[in-house]
Amino acid sequence: MIKETIITVDIGASKVHFAVVEGNNLIEYSEIPQVGLVNIGLDNQKLLEIISGGVKKIISILTKQKETVSAISIGSPGSLDSATGIIQNPPNLKGVINFPIVDELKKLFDVLVFLLNDADAAALGEGWLGAGQGFKDIVYITLSSGVGSGIIKDGKLQNKRELGHEQFVVRDEQRTCSCGESNHAEAFLGTNGLAETSAQIMGTKFSDMKTEDRYKISIEMRKGASNGDEKWLALEDKYSEHLGIFLNEVITNNRPQIIILGGGIIQENTRLLNKTKQHLKKFSETEEVPIVLAKLKNPVNLGVAKYALEQLKRN
Ligand SMILES: [Zn+2]
Repeated sequence: MIKETIITVDIGASKVHFAVVEGNNLIEYSEIPQVGLVNIGLDNQKLLEIISGGVKKIISILTKQKETVSAISIGSPGSLDSATGIIQNPPNLKGVINFPIVDELKKLFDVLVFLLNDADAAALGEGWLGAGQGFKDIVYITLSSGVGSGIIKDGKLQNKRELGHEQFVVRDEQRTCSCGESNHAEAFLGTNGLAETSAQIMGTKFSDMKTEDRYKISIEMRKGASNGDEKWLALEDKYSEHLGIFLNEVITNNRPQIIILGGGIIQENTRLLNKTKQHLKKFSETEEVPIVLAKLKNPVNLGVAKYALEQLKRN
């Protein structure tokens, strides 16, 4: 079997992370650092410079090792179109609009280029080498600034739905989502959703919170709750109740064999996971579906590599 060499690029909300995937192995190069995206006046051209710069360096390293690149594969926050290779208008990449990244990179490097939503990529990565190994029906959910989802059914990625932007009912409360519609899971479970719940419990004003402070809340909640602080415990309880309601919907509508939770708000937080499971138990109609934390350090890089390998096999 030929061992394909895939250059992978994970465009996060705050940085770009490059890695090479060969077979099952993820290789990082100290010469290719992560590149920050915050406060640099990001636009299509800037993003292209950052990505092509990293890719160029990796290709020169691989060329010295007499290796050829099979494909470049990119994970990016949505909205995007994998089929046309265009990053459309992602709220988490302000300044990047209708960017035909696949065509631009093909022109520069004359190699196959693939583009995939980052949550879809993480789902594939976790299913391939992480917490979802051995399962064919997987729902992956990322809880960070946004609420992303990737659904794998019968081993195949279903990339049509965004669970974080589907109707979700919390009794006695209405919230407007970042997408403009009301009562989506993201409005309760993303960074701003957690911050809004926190403001209610702490008696502060959500609109007065600075963006960087909103991002610190999940860490403070983790610390405060494990120290037994009443208000942080109350926030942890409320958030896990919201998450339980959401997961109940996800299970009812998708019937997965396993749910994998990733993203900054819940990563390595078994306290929050266990509390969520307790809330979920209240819904008697919910069958026992294992709910686990994501395992991989670089699920997006591995996932886009897996995606590229599948596409290469097809061609
Ligand atoms: Zn929404």
